[in-house]
Amino acid sequence: MTLEGGCLCRGVSYVLDGSPRDVVNCHCERCRRFTGHFMAATRLPVADLDLSDPDELMRWWWPVPEAGYAFCSRCGSSLFWRAADDPSYWSVCAGTLDPPTGLTTTLTVWASQASDYHVRQEVRELETE
Ligand SMILES: [Zn+2]
Ligand SMILES: [Zn+2]
Repeated sequence: MTLEGGCLCRGVSYVLDGSPRDVVNCHCERCRRFTGHFMAATRLPVADLDLSDPDELMRWWWPVPEAGYAFCSRCGSSLFWRAADDPSYWSVCAGTLDPPTGLTTTLTVWASQASDYHVRQEVRELETE
């Protein structure tokens, strides 16, 4: 399966060629603040991701040593996150994929850190990861 995506200004774009995982929502405080709501992400080996960033707009920010978050420094779009102990896999912010994605949201994690305004979805929830 080939999927394409990118940030709002399209300065950063990518092609996924492989089998990205279904979408997992993460409501942990880091993901909540980074995305402005919650992280909805698919995941795949970074070897299956062809990134195009000709103007070198993408930045990584590491709020903690264990987890890095990537965003476009021009438009601010949330793009990726990755765990330091698993550098061969990147998570891709699902909203940056060009629809139709063919993916389904299958799980919510860190529901205990969702903000109080959030309306719960009909997705299996875990209180932590
Ligand atoms: Zn951008
Ligand atoms: Zn999270």
